[in-house]
Amino acid sequence: MYFDPVCHKKINKEENSHKILYQRKFYFFCSDKCQKEFEKNPKKYYWEDVRKLKIPKDEKGSR
Ligand SMILES: [Zn+2]
Repeated sequence: MYFDPVCHKKINKEENSHKILYQRKFYFFCSDKCQKEFEKNPKKYYWEDVRKLKIPKDEKGSR
């Protein structure tokens, strides 16, 4: 499961064609609009994503 870094929606990557490669990582988007938003200001969303990666793992099991 992936999250749209712009609007934080869940993305099912099999069904989604809105993706870009940035900093050697794929980012998925719910729509063209979000993708463009990311392209306009990738650093903003890129850093948000980095912050999220620091969330402790136990959040996964808490539903
Ligand atoms: Zn979105």
